[in-house]
Amino acid sequence: MDESPLPLRRVLLAHLVTGCFLLPDWMRAALAAPPTAVPVLGTPAPASSRPAALPLVMLDPGHGGKDPGAIGVSGTHEKKIVLSAALELRRQLLASGRYRVEMTRSRDVFVRLEERVARAQSRRAALFVSIHADAVPDRFVRGASVYTLANTASDAQTAALARRENSADRFGTPTFRDVPPNVGRILASLVRQETRLGSARIAQALVRDLDRDVKLLTNPSRHASFMVLKSADIPSVLVEMGFMSNPDDEAALRRLEHRTRVAAAIKRSVDGYFAAANYMARMAG
Ligand SMILES: [Zn+2]
Repeated sequence: MDESPLPLRRVLLAHLVTGCFLLPDWMRAALAAPPTAVPVLGTPAPASSRPAALPLVMLDPGHGGKDPGAIGVSGTHEKKIVLSAALELRRQLLASGRYRVEMTRSRDVFVRLEERVARAQSRRAALFVSIHADAVPDRFVRGASVYTLANTASDAQTAALARRENSADRFGTPTFRDVPPNVGRILASLVRQETRLGSARIAQALVRDLDRDVKLLTNPSRHASFMVLKSADIPSVLVEMGFMSNPDDEAALRRLEHRTRVAAAIKRSVDGYFAAANYMARMAG
């Protein structure tokens, strides 16, 4: 796989064409603003003083409402476990003062998969993290795992991204709209490629950070054609915190202390992801 740093490639691409239309808002702000002191953990800045361009992390607790998700061996619903974990992760991310955080659902409601992706795109999320804890027939299978989109599922999205160039989309700037269709297709393909690299980077960080505190599945870095990972332009990852079908995993996931530990591991990965992105953006700028 091409290991070129995603943000650097994106910055160079933006410079090569015209302006910074490919840069996400948060990265543009990072390039424009002088370096700021890292906020002290646990002391979030007042909402009024937070820069508007902090990167937006979209958290996606799976299932909800009429869809309970996996049912654990003792009857626990996945939808409750993943919502609780996502709320804890939101708390930790907001406490750092480095991010804006939104959720595809923050209560027990059913949200269609397409809506989850559409919400992330309409809100211009910089990162999409879906959280699950599913089940398999074999009750001995246990451990956390991390999924990115399978390569074979990306072509349709690339085509869709190219088609969107004439609509009010997330790249709704004259520069992108005015390029010839063939150039638009090439740009869309490049964005798709960079999104895939970004997804791979956050997935790699998650496997490393989860491994410190959480039991992992064998070969924990996996690929699948999950609908919620199909954003063409938002690095996306799906974390399976464990298996509700395994008694040990289910018991652990029922404990707040364990969910807090999983959330802390995910937060470390998010921190590392954006720290590297900011560094590369500054190097390229
Ligand atoms: Zn699930």
